[in-house]
Amino acid sequence: YYEQIQQSERLKTTGQLAAAVAHEIRNPLTVVKGFLQLYKDDPEVNNDKKGHFTLMIDELNTAEQVISQFLAVAKPTKELETETVNVKSVLQSVTDLLLSYGLLHDKKIELEMIEDCYIAANNIEMKQLLINIIKNAIEASKEGDSVYIVAGRKKDAVEIKVIDYGTGMTEEEVNSLGTPFYSLKSKGTGLGMMICFNIAAKYKGTIRFQSAKGKGTTVTISFPAIK
Ligand code: ADP
Ligand code: MG
Repeated sequence: YYEQIQQSERLKTTGQLAAAVAHEIRNPLTVVKGFLQLYKDDPEVNNDKKGHFTLMIDELNTAEQVISQFLAVAKPTKELETETVNVKSVLQSVTDLLLSYGLLHDKKIELEMIEDCYIAANNIEMKQLLINIIKNAIEASKEGDSVYIVAGRKKDAVEIKVIDYGTGMTEEEVNSLGTPFYSLKSKGTGLGMMICFNIAAKYKGTIRFQSAKGKGTTVTISFPAIK
């Protein structure tokens, strides 16, 4: 077992130019996708070609997803205010949201939270952070398994543990987390963890990974407690 703490400053290097480029790429993609959709539905197009169109549209959808997720990290921050976040209610809404996603793949989410906890952050960003980490845990889990979320006050901090008994990671894999576009999934964007590290850093939080290949992963998210 090994641990690693990351507070990402990585995105600062990508900067606003990249965000502008991403934005400019998204518009033409949408136009091309629209036309492909039209051709696909054309009755004169045979089934073989329809398949090709579906493939092209799928690939464009992936590209759009990457860009949207990237823009979510690169541009926002300023408009979002720091507010009192009730960790219990955010966790409840996030687990409700992901429950059906998990059930679809025969994976359960079990939330154990004893007390009300508060942190100074932003509700939308905290949701985004938790969704990304819990979704990863669900995706790593085997069918029939559960993802466990344990949260509560620990000294001056609020600590959330997301535990899965899935694929786990090697030390090298853990060290790659947060690198833009690092993903071992066929349909992954590799942006989720980068988003999480950035949000954590913004509100003086940390995300720590304990993982063992083939055994599972425990992600410990910690933020300074208020109240
Ligand atoms: P994505 O989910 O789109 O691949 P992420 O940034 O969320 O991108 O995660 C990057 C990679 O880190 C994943 O592809 C996966 O290989 C690994 N990973 C993240 N969380 C876990 C986990 N709980 N268990 C095993 N691997 C994980
Ligand atoms: Mg992910």
